[in-house]
Amino acid sequence: EDAARAGRVFLVSEMRVADDIAWRGQMLSELETALRNDEVGVAFQPKVSLSTGLIVGAEALLRWTHPTRGKIEPAKVVALAEEHGRVGMITFFVLNHALVQARRALDRFPYFRIAINISALDLRDRLFVPQLEQIIAAHRFPVANIILEITETAPIENDEAVSRTMQELKRMGIKLSVDDFGMGHASLEYLRRIPADEVKIDRSFVSGIATCEEDRALVGSAIQMIHSLGRTAVAEGVETARVVELLREMGCEEAQGYHFSHPVAMDDLLAQMPRGAAAA
Ligand code: C2E
Ligand code: MG
Ligand code: MG
Ligand code: MG
Repeated sequence: EDAARAGRVFLVSEMRVADDIAWRGQMLSELETALRNDEVGVAFQPKVSLSTGLIVGAEALLRWTHPTRGKIEPAKVVALAEEHGRVGMITFFVLNHALVQARRALDRFPYFRIAINISALDLRDRLFVPQLEQIIAAHRFPVANIILEITETAPIENDEAVSRTMQELKRMGIKLSVDDFGMGHASLEYLRRIPADEVKIDRSFVSGIATCEEDRALVGSAIQMIHSLGRTAVAEGVETARVVELLREMGCEEAQGYHFSHPVAMDDLLAQMPRGAAAA
C-alpha cells in the first residue's frame, strides 16, 4: 500500500512538473508576443531625497497585463525569462520605454535620474554592453542620469566576466546600484566587489524599523556601512511617515515606497513633481 501511495505521489508530482514545463514554455512565447504588441508596459516609482523631500528620479518597473490571466508579477516574468536565457529582451524593452518617458522628466528637471533593473545574467552576456551603448546613443540620453539596479539572483562576486562588465559600465559613466541589500546573496564580499554608487536596503528590513528594535539596529548599521564605503543609502518599501522620520535621523539619503507613491505612469509622476523652475 505504501508503494502504491508512493507511486501515486510520484505520478502526481511528475504531472505537476510536466504541467509546469508546458505552462512555462507557453508563457515565454506569450511574453514574446506581448512585448511585440505592447501588452507590456512600464510603471515609474519616484525616488525621493530625504533631505529636500523632492523627487530626484524614478525606478522603472515592468508591468504585464495578460488578456486572460490578468496581472502577472514582474518577478515571475523575470524569473521565467532568466530560465530561458532571455532576460535581455525584458531589460532592453524596459530600457527603451523608460528612456522615452524619462526624457520628459529630464527636460524639466536636469537632475532627474532613471533607474532600470537588470538581471545578474545580463552582466554575463557579451552583447549587453554594446547593445546598451547603442540604445543610449539612439536616445541621446545622458549616461550620468542612468542607474542600473542589480539584483543578484545567484552569487556573481567571483565571476570575472561580470566584474569586467561592471567596470565597463562604470567607465561609460553609468551609475550602479545594489538592489535588495540584506536579502539573498547580497554578502559583504558582494558589496565590496561591486563598484556601486548606491545601495538599496531591502524592504523587509525597512518596513519594521518603527516597530522592531532589531530591524532599526540592522538598518542603522547598514546605513553606516554603506556610508563608510562612500556609497549612497536608499531605503525601499517606506510606507509610513514615522519610517521616513527614523530614516532621516539615521542619515539615509533617499527613499522609495507607498508612503510617497506607488509605481505610476509618467504623467502621474510628472504631476507630483514641482512645477516651473527646476529645483535641485
Ligand atoms: P525591486 O527592484 O526591488 O522593486 C521594488 C518592488 O517593491 C516593486 O515591486 C515595487 O512595486 C514594490 N514596492 C515599492 N514600494 C513598496 C512599498 O512601500 N511596499 C511594498 N509592499 N512594496 C513596494 P514589483 O514591481 O512587483 O517588482 C518586483 C521585482 O521584480 C523588482 O524588485 C525587481 O527585482 C523585478 N523587476 C521589476 N521590473 C523589472 C525589470 O524591468 N527588469 C528586471 N530584471 N527585474 C524587474
Ligand atoms: Mg529595483
Ligand atoms: Mg530587485
Ligand atoms: Mg529592491
